[in-house]
Amino acid sequence: MQKYLVSIFYPSSYKTSFGEAMKRKVNLSEITYKEPIKVKTVLQPSLLDLPKEEVSSSSPFNLEVEISKKPIGYEVKGKISGEVELTCSRCLKKFNKRIDKEFKYELMPTSELSGGQIKSGELDIKFSDETVLDLAEVVHEQVVLELPVKPLCSNECKEVKYEEESVNETDKRWDKLKELRDKLKEKEK
Ligand SMILES: [Zn+2]
Repeated sequence: MQKYLVSIFYPSSYKTSFGEAMKRKVNLSEITYKEPIKVKTVLQPSLLDLPKEEVSSSSPFNLEVEISKKPIGYEVKGKISGEVELTCSRCLKKFNKRIDKEFKYELMPTSELSGGQIKSGELDIKFSDETVLDLAEVVHEQVVLELPVKPLCSNECKEVKYEEESVNETDKRWDKLKELRDKLKEKEK
């Protein structure tokens, strides 16, 4: 028998601590060998905390996840689906990127990190001593992994001539400076 926690999709205006808790957190200590926990939920963009400099907006993200207990730690597997709005690194146009992704990783206590048997980065392992799994964080991490280093609105945009490319890069540098200036201004407030 598997435990199913199916949360209700509340409109974003509906905010109670109970509703949020149901959608967002899984108490790992409740998971037994016999009973993995399955959660199906929808996470609002405001909870995902995606990097604003890369993602100008995002749809709500669907998450299906199953967490099973292992001799050491847990296995987390599931899938996410949603859409993010990115800015093309060449023409600076905004475009939507669909993200449908399956993922799987092991969640290990940090004590395993010093054991020497498992090296971080070797497998899909995440080290954490948290007893509660924040599903918004799970989606955040998976989305960030899918963000391209150089987003392109289309394949054609890849073939822009060199001259135009260098112009764009100059523009981008100015953007960075503007960003810095805005940040400094904010701090002064
Ligand atoms: Zn483009």
